[in-house]
Amino acid sequence: FSEAMSGQEVLGRYMTKVHTDLDKTDCAICCDKLSEASSYGDGHPEAYEAIQLSRCSHQFHKLCLLTMYNSSHKDDSLQCPSCKMIYGEKTGICPPGNMSWKIMSGNSLAGYEGYNTICVTYHLSSGIQGPEHPQPGQPYTCRGFPRQGFLPDCDKGRKVLKLLMEAFRRRLMFTIGISHTTGEPNTVTWNEIHHKTELHGNQSGHGYPDPNYLDNVLQELAAYGITEDCLAT
Ligand code: NAD
Ligand code: ZN
Ligand code: ZN
Repeated sequence: FSEAMSGQEVLGRYMTKVHTDLDKTDCAICCDKLSEASSYGDGHPEAYEAIQLSRCSHQFHKLCLLTMYNSSHKDDSLQCPSCKMIYGEKTGICPPGNMSWKIMSGNSLAGYEGYNTICVTYHLSSGIQGPEHPQPGQPYTCRGFPRQGFLPDCDKGRKVLKLLMEAFRRRLMFTIGISHTTGEPNTVTWNEIHHKTELHGNQSGHGYPDPNYLDNVLQELAAYGITEDCLAT
């Protein structure tokens, strides 16, 4: 584990300074021109510093980006607010738990006849929120666990399984917040990586058949920076 770095150091890895055409570009964070001061830096000597992210080249006030980073859970990664490109390894705030999977043989999902089914299970339990959570020190609840998701045991389904495991390792699978379904605050919810929670039928809208599911979940994983490249190392 690396020592926690300051926001300045983290930004420094991913940005370069820019000096030209500052009056032609707006900062997408504060919406002022880059030639004017950052709204977050009144009177600060660095308020006029403009930077550009190294790979996507989007430009911002340095102080605006620093403020954005410091209001996140400071995991040493940065996501471009303009194009969502991820710098570093984005992690989430999923509380402790475990993930396991098993093959259910002789059990096919609609649309994947002839294939076995992979059943993924998540065990999480209630606890006290940590400093990275919305209400540190307050309890959080954990409803409907263990939760299960189903994948076809085909090549693409197995690839999705590996990427889901990486997402879980990076604490991205669940988050703590308000449940859309129940309105309950301070509870564990899914975090934008969809699972098919119905084995047979589609009463909830989260079942099979759905010919686009594997591609959709691959896109959701990619939005967090989790792609096949992550599995190479
Ligand atoms: P949520 O309602 O805040 O929604 C978060 C995400 O989960 C959304 O993207 C949504 O599309 C997705 N989602 C909603 N219902 C889903 C389902 N049945 N299967 C797969 N994905 C689903 O998320 P949440 O609070 O985590 O609730 C998700 C589901 O969990 C609920 O529909 C419900 O089936 C179950 N749940 C059960 C209990 C319980 O006490 N048994 C309590 C709360 C939620
Ligand atoms: Zn700005
Ligand atoms: Zn960008």
